[in-house]
Parts: sequence; structure tokens; C-alpha cells
Amino acid sequence: MTRQPTVPYGRQQIADEDIEAVCATLRSNWLTTGPTVERFEQELARKVGVEHGVAVCNGTAALHAAMYALGIGPGDEVIVPPMTFAATANAVLYQGGTPVFADVEADTLLIDPAAIEARITPRTKAVVAVDYAGQSCDYDALRTIAERHGLRLVADACHSLGGSYHGAPCGSQADLSVFSFHPVKPITTGEGGMVVTGNEELARRMRIFRNHGITTDHRQRSLAGAWRYEMVELGYNYRLSDIHCALGLSQLNRLDGFIQRRQNIAARYDAAFAGYPAIRPLAVRPWNSHGYHLYVVRAPHRDTLYAGLRDRGINANVHYTPVHLHPYYRQHLGTGEGLCPVAEAAWDEILSLPIFPALSNDEQERVIAALEEVVAEVAP
Ligand SMILES: *Cc1c(COP(=O)(O)O)cnc(C)c1O
Repeated sequence: MTRQPTVPYGRQQIADEDIEAVCATLRSNWLTTGPTVERFEQELARKVGVEHGVAVCNGTAALHAAMYALGIGPGDEVIVPPMTFAATANAVLYQGGTPVFADVEADTLLIDPAAIEARITPRTKAVVAVDYAGQSCDYDALRTIAERHGLRLVADACHSLGGSYHGAPCGSQADLSVFSFHPVKPITTGEGGMVVTGNEELARRMRIFRNHGITTDHRQRSLAGAWRYEMVELGYNYRLSDIHCALGLSQLNRLDGFIQRRQNIAARYDAAFAGYPAIRPLAVRPWNSHGYHLYVVRAPHRDTLYAGLRDRGINANVHYTPVHLHPYYRQHLGTGEGLCPVAEAAWDEILSLPIFPALSNDEQERVIAALEEVVAEVAP
């Protein structure tokens, strides 16, 4: 039997126009802190319908910048869901704050508003909601809670760029919304991230934070013909280069098509699994347009399905190990089993199937056929 190429769970799609855009930047005067950074910030912010964008070197730095801008520090608590990449909670720790885990809803794995209310204390400063798998959280409900308790609301929208909530773009609903441009994400810059916000003061703080805490950048000084600068905060070098942003701008042009393709793939999976109680796709709220960064099913025989797919050259994945169960969190925050039972139960069953714009129909048929074979063995 000839071995077919391995199908990953996600990957980038790079077109000739992306390569051209990067090359044009390489031939230009500015490799970093140049005009392409600003253009990418403006165009992505406009796409999302928010005034300001601050580009940084990855999604994790974007989360860190968001925590910094909100003034999170020692003694402050920030509520986060456990069903996310560790970076969501780690960003709170970077600032010396304490992440507090609020459980998710069983059918969507999105943070549960009732669980948030149960975790609020006098020290709670903010909530970071995660648009898990590419589906928007219920921001109307979250905003009501945030306003009632005087909390700031952050969206970890690393999965949901291109999706929408009641017709409004994902990333337009919170005080600060964070994106990642890692190769598996909705669009890529290789590594990259951005925070968007309607709040000019928060945007200003993040621009200083990403540039060592210095009030002007190299191009601003060059344009002003002045050498003097001042460092006013302890910041970082979290800048994103013009080379990355050229790729991001070019990818942004194709975002709508990427999302459409992801939604088509999801619809084909939905139809294929409709008659299989052993493979249950997560629920989608009717007011959401799902960006489908991930296509997640719950399957009681998850480990067998995972292994069976691997034997057939298909790399599924599990998103995520609940953050509060990682050894670091157990050791340093004393978290463990029982803290978020819904997420913990889901962890035993979730499987992310291959979904990305460049996945061909034939490859998807291979995935579906492989699953049908394995399911016939374990749950006939
Ligand atoms: C990818 C991701 C991040 C981190 O983004 P990087 O660009 O990899 O640093 C944070 N949160 C979520 C939910 C993510 O999926």
C-alpha cells in the first residue's frame, strides 16, 4: 500500500501574492517600525470595526500587553476559562496577577457566565473570555456582568478572527481583543499578534509597552529629525516587523475566503457525523458565524479514534489540556481536579479534526472514511 501524505490538523496557506508582498518589503527602506506595521494595524482594526490596532510579536505578547494596559498587578485576580492555551492565563502571571478559573459550558466549551459570577471577589479586576475554536462567547451576557461588577472585559479572539457575533465582527465586543497570527490561526504572519481596542489611552499604553517603555519609536524620531527619547515605563521589545506585517496585510485580503472554506469543511463534517452518536460536534449558537479555527467533536472513544487516525496518516489533536491541570499551575497556584468539572470531563472526549483552507475534499474524505472505520470497530 502506498503511504499517502500525512494530513495535519491545521496549517497555513501561502499564495504567490503573499510572497510578492514580503519581497517588496525586503526591497523597501523599512524592515521594522516602518509604514507597513501601521497599515496592517489600521486595516485589521477596520476589518474588525474597532478604532485602534497595536501589532506585537505574537499572540502571547498581545495578551501580556492587554494585562499591562489594564494595570493588572500583584493582588489582582483575572477570571479566565480553563479550556484554552496556557498563554491566556500565563499573561496574568507575567504581570504578577492571579488567574482564577471559571468553568465552561458543556456543549460549546465557551466560558459560562454563571461560573464567572461565582468566582468574582473584591480583588477581581478583569475577565478574559476565549472564543474557543473560533466561536464567539456571549459578549452581551459578559458585558452585563462586567458592568455590574466594574470589571474590564478582554477577548482572547486568537481563534475567531473572521467570525461574527449577532452580525458584529469577532474582536469588536470587549474593551481589548487579542489576535494571534501563528501559522495555524485564521491568518498568519509567521509569528505575530495584535490587540485592538476602541480606547485611545489603552492603545497608547500598549504602543509604549511594546517598545521598551519608550515614548517614541525610531521612525517617529526620524520623521521629527530628533534624537532625544525617554523611557517612562518598564516595557519590552515586543515589536512586529514590517516583513511580518506585509504578509499579514496580504493574508487579510483573503480572510473572508479562508473562513468560507473552513465553514464549508465544517458543514461536510457535520453532515457526515449526523448519524453517529459516537462522534458529536460541539454546539454552535444561532447568533454566531463560527470561524472554525478548530473543528472539535466529543467522542467517548477519543483515544482509540486518535490512534486509529494516526495509523491512517491523519494527525488529529486535543485542544486543550485544561490549564489548571498543568503541573506548573498545580504547583504554583494549588489548582487541580474538581476546580472546573465540565472542562475536565470534556478533556477526556475532545478531538480536533483537520480543518484549514488548503484541506482538499479528497483529504477530508480520507478523514471521514478513517473515522467511520475506527468507529465501526469500537462502537458498532
Ligand atoms: C495561539 C493562541 C494564543 C497565543 O498566540 P501565540 O501567537 O502562539 O503566542 C493565545 N491564546 C489562544 C486561545 C491561542 O489559540
